[in-house]
Amino acid sequence: MTSDESVGRLTAVLGKIAAAEEVREANAGPVTLVAVSKTFDADAIRPVIAAGCRVFGENKVQEAQEKWPALKAEYPDVELRLLGPLQSNKARDAVALFDVIESVDREKIAVEIAKEIARQGRAPRLYVQVNTGREPQKAGIDPDEAVAFVDRCRKELGLAIEGLMCIPPAGEDPAPHFELLTALADNAGLDRRSMGMSGDYEKAVIHGATSVRVGSAIFGSRTYA
Ligand SMILES: *Cc1c(COP(=O)(O)O)cnc(C)c1O
Repeated sequence: MTSDESVGRLTAVLGKIAAAEEVREANAGPVTLVAVSKTFDADAIRPVIAAGCRVFGENKVQEAQEKWPALKAEYPDVELRLLGPLQSNKARDAVALFDVIESVDREKIAVEIAKEIARQGRAPRLYVQVNTGREPQKAGIDPDEAVAFVDRCRKELGLAIEGLMCIPPAGEDPAPHFELLTALADNAGLDRRSMGMSGDYEKAVIHGATSVRVGSAIFGSRTYA
């Protein structure tokens, strides 16, 4: 995939988001595109930044540490989001590097993040990940506990939770999951919902996404080492 191709695909994705925004109810506000750059190196990412994209997502702390400090030095207005599961021993690095952590998925990691925010005086914006499909192998808070968990994060840990995030089960219609996340966010008093990936981001926008996380539809298919 050449950089020209990724810029062309970025333009196409932005066009489809804009078209999906037209289908939603009015006054829903603009959708943020998070370009998911995991497995792609700085040379593949730079053209997408140059084309105007300012929000990027990674799913591993260590991989992000290898490429983003240099890119952020070049482009200080880029916002970097952590989308993947966070281990307690990486909370320090994650709070230091990321502007947004979307994968707050259990009490223990919320406690670690709160400690690091206090220690570093740097507070990434936070999303609670909800396991809308109740899949045993998948990270995230059970939907039945999500509102209470957000409350505990706020009241007991002093965390300013910005929104909810979900990854619907593969091979299922994602629409009911998008609707569930939207309802849970409403119940928790949150107005941000991170949902939708390359295969379903238009549907996610129609069902209430305020940000979508799109990787392969921009950067091409990933090859894992
Ligand atoms: C990889 C990833 C994405 C992007 O996936 P694509 O299908 O390539 O768009 C979105 N969200 C999360 C949490 C991911 O890990």
